[in-house]
Amino acid sequence: AKAQGGNRYELADPDLDARAISRHSLTNRLPAALEGAEFFIEYQPLVRMADGCVEGAEALVRWDHPRHGVLGPDRFIPLAEHTGLIVPLGRWVLEQAVRQACEWQVRGIGGTRQLRVNVNLSPRQLHHPHLVADTVSVLQNAGLPPESLCLEVTESALIRADDDELKPLRQLAELGVGIALDDFGTGYSNLASLRRLPASTLKLDRSFTQGLQQHPADPVDLRVVEGIVSLAHALELSVTVEGVETASQADQLRTLGCDSAQGWYYARPGPPERFSAQMAMAAGQ
Ligand code: C2E
Ligand code: CA
Ligand code: CA
Ligand code: CA
Repeated sequence: AKAQGGNRYELADPDLDARAISRHSLTNRLPAALEGAEFFIEYQPLVRMADGCVEGAEALVRWDHPRHGVLGPDRFIPLAEHTGLIVPLGRWVLEQAVRQACEWQVRGIGGTRQLRVNVNLSPRQLHHPHLVADTVSVLQNAGLPPESLCLEVTESALIRADDDELKPLRQLAELGVGIALDDFGTGYSNLASLRRLPASTLKLDRSFTQGLQQHPADPVDLRVVEGIVSLAHALELSVTVEGVETASQADQLRTLGCDSAQGWYYARPGPPERFSAQMAMAAGQ
C-alpha cells in the first residue's frame, strides 16, 4: 500500500485490491457515490465494417472511487443491480449518454451521419414500470431522435421474458429506439425465441471474436459465426461484433458478413472529448 497523505491509502496491486475491497463496503457507498458524482462515462466507437465509418459509440460507466481509484462496471454493476440502485444509476447513464449524443449531432461531429449512442440496460431496469416513460422523457428533454439511441439488453435477460415483459421494449422499438441483444451466443437462445424479440441488432459475444485469434482459425469456429450471421440476417437483425483486437480478426469478421464492430483494434473506451477528437481527425479536420 502506498500512502497518499493523512490516513488514506491506495493499493498498488490490482489483484490484491480486488480481494481487499469488500463487496459490502462498495455496496454501502453506492448511493453516496451517485450523489457525489463519482461515476463517469467512457465511450467506445462502433465501426461499420464495410467502410470503417464510425456509426456511434457505446456508453460504458466507471466509478472513480475516492479510495480505490477507478473501478470497472463488472465490480459494481452487479451490486447496484442487487440493491436496486441500478435504476437511478442507469437513468443517470442514459441522461448523460443521450445528452452527449445530442451534443455530437449539434456539433456535426459525425459529418452527414447522425451518430448513435448505445446504452446498456440491466434486467432490473428492463422490468421497471417507468422504463418507457423515462426513456421517452430523457430523449425529449435532450431533443435526440429515438433512432439515435440503442438500448443493449443481454440475451440472457430476455430469454425467459414472456410477452408482457417484452411489451416495454416493443413499445420503445416502435418509437424507433434500437434494441441490441448483448453478449449474444452465451445464453443459448433458440430460433423461436429470437423471432419474438423486438431486437434490431445482435451483438456477438467477445468469445467468438477470441476464437478467431488462432492462425489459421478453427474452421468450426468460422462456420459457427457464419451460421449466426446468416441466421441474424434472415431475421433482419444487423450483427455487431465485440472485442475485435486485431486486423486479422476484423478481416475475418468482415468476410463472414458482420455489419459493425467494436474493440481495441479500432479504439479503446475513452472520455467523450477523445471520441470527438478521433472523429474530427478521421474527417480530416
Ligand atoms: P459489455 O456491454 O459486453 O461491454 C463491452 C466490454 O468489453 C466493455 O467492458 C469494454 O471496455 C470491453 N471491450 C471493448 N473492446 C474490447 C476489446 O477489444 N478487448 C477486450 N478484451 N475487451 C473489450 P467494461 O467497460 O469493463 O464493461 C463491462 C460490462 O459492464 C459491459 O459489458 C456491460 O455489461 C456492463 N456495463 C457497462 N456500463 C454499463 C451501464 O451503464 N449499465 C449497465 N447496466 N451495465 C453496464
Ligand atoms: Ca454492451
Ligand atoms: Ca457485450
Ligand atoms: Ca460482455
